[in-house]
Amino acid sequence: MKIMTAKIAAVFIVIVLAIGAIVVQNNYFSTSAPAHLVLLLPDNADAQSPKVQVWLDAIEEEGFLVTVMHDSAFLHPWTNRSKFSGVILPDQVHKVASDSLITTLDDYVTKGGKLMLVYDAGIWSLESRYTSNFSRFSHLAGVNYAHYNKLQKETISWQPVLASEKTFSTLRIPPGKYHPYGELAVKKSPRIDYVKVQDDKLYSISGYEHMLINYDIYATDYKYSGEVLMQSPKGDVIAGKRSHGKGTVLYVNLSLGYLKGRTDGLFLHSFLHYFANHIVQLPYLAAVPDGVGGIVMNWHLDSNVAFRPLKRIRDLGIYKQGPYSIHITAGPDSLFIGDQAGLNVPENKRSQKWIKYFKEKGYQVGSHGGWIHDRFGEYVKDKPTEEFERYLVKNKQALEKVLAQPITEYSAPKGNHPEWVTSWLAKNKINSYYFTGNTGMSPTRSYRNGVLNNPEVWSFPILPYRDMAGFEELRNHKIKSTVVSRWLTQASEFSADTNTLRLIYFHPRGALFYKSAIRDWLAMADVLQSQKRFRWYTMTEISKFLTSRNKIKWDFEAEKKLHTFTANHTDSMNSFAWMLSRSIYNKPVITEGNARITLSNNHWSIIAGKGKKLIFTSTTIN
Ligand SMILES: [Zn+2]
Repeated sequence: MKIMTAKIAAVFIVIVLAIGAIVVQNNYFSTSAPAHLVLLLPDNADAQSPKVQVWLDAIEEEGFLVTVMHDSAFLHPWTNRSKFSGVILPDQVHKVASDSLITTLDDYVTKGGKLMLVYDAGIWSLESRYTSNFSRFSHLAGVNYAHYNKLQKETISWQPVLASEKTFSTLRIPPGKYHPYGELAVKKSPRIDYVKVQDDKLYSISGYEHMLINYDIYATDYKYSGEVLMQSPKGDVIAGKRSHGKGTVLYVNLSLGYLKGRTDGLFLHSFLHYFANHIVQLPYLAAVPDGVGGIVMNWHLDSNVAFRPLKRIRDLGIYKQGPYSIHITAGPDSLFIGDQAGLNVPENKRSQKWIKYFKEKGYQVGSHGGWIHDRFGEYVKDKPTEEFERYLVKNKQALEKVLAQPITEYSAPKGNHPEWVTSWLAKNKINSYYFTGNTGMSPTRSYRNGVLNNPEVWSFPILPYRDMAGFEELRNHKIKSTVVSRWLTQASEFSADTNTLRLIYFHPRGALFYKSAIRDWLAMADVLQSQKRFRWYTMTEISKFLTSRNKIKWDFEAEKKLHTFTANHTDSMNSFAWMLSRSIYNKPVITEGNARITLSNNHWSIIAGKGKKLIFTSTTIN
């Protein structure tokens, strides 16, 4: 009997240690101070699936630390949930939720936790069915939603998002992506019991070639107990923030992960950053060198029509700044085979001279398709063909011959970029491309049809102005120079203020329509550069930086008020920067390695110098 008891005791101890190990792993931090985000998954969810990875990639790109946790670990009686500073319940993967998960999350928030509740998370019972009247998370969300029994097919509707200018700005939505709703809506939906937001002027979202973007949302009741961030024209709550007990719930009625999977990732990244940095107040690793924001100015040279404007824009002082990303279609033809309207890089001395000039200036020359601009842009198909692959190869080789260096960046003629081209870029060590999807975003790894095939290649989404991009389009829509000037200067200020990067593209010919706007833009860039808050970047520089950034291993430990940050990199930590909120942290101290500390946009920037290891500490203010 005694032996048996000992055996049972031994087994028991092993089990305790095993569970203890899980708990310790989940409770890495010893105080309730800011730590990792927790991405909560149901027990049967595979963390490697694209629907989960799309969240993890976004969190990594935004620079936050995250722990993936399954429900059973979160619900375990020995798990000390008060140590998790922020929990995310993602869309797509967490539709099913048990009653005990809902009760436990309620308890977690009541005691001071922060919860980000997204779209369809938890709308189904364990039997994968809608529950009786509305989502069981409604009391946490702050509004009743997912009324399937009552609304059936109308449970979800297709609507624009409305918010105040202040909200869009707080969500770090860049200028050009949102405009007064009245200007965008051709036919306004009737306003039923309109829920008032912070101010009377409502703005909405547009995108390249889309005047007003609609989204799938759950119909909600119109009464919300908290701060409405976004609503539909009818008054459905699309996003809101509210206190619940001692904690906070951010409810987002948009399928964020799904949208990012289909090249509309701006809201996933915006809400994620808002939750992690604004609500949970976590530190993050900036996605730009030295934490200094900027713009990629991307020129497309499609044909020999570009020669004269290339010369004439010199008067704007444009060649005094840079570096820029300049992309060229290199074949002898431009519109169709035999038209001889191309830049003809192999033969034309004028083209070669410009390319060498750009190289001397430190600008980055890239491939614009395609060899024959319009033929490529109009006829390239979803599947690779010998003809179009040949055009890509010839374009690249012609430019490389003149440059005497490899081509590392790419843009698609007419924005036509089938996914096989991305695979071709990856195979040819081209690390970045201009993209007309995910508009308004920082560089990102773009998912297509829900999957990411080429994680090594960075896409650079364009920043559109309303439904337009490129100065010719703005001119065709009769957009005034003063308006363009405001957009360009605000975009530069936005990049500086948010420590992020955006891409603006145009053709030199279009620049001649907006000379004064470009002068204003360059002047603003000059001012911001002199304040060391802004830089012109090339796609190549940023994509190399971001790929290297993914190799950083960093974490932090909290001992009461003292937080110790440790970072390691296999090559060099140079230019990576951590951002710590000034309202949370006292001035950090470097304890090992090489770094400098500056104050930027209410954050301490800890900017690493050379070296493979960096340790710094900071005490929290409260
Ligand atoms: Zn083009």
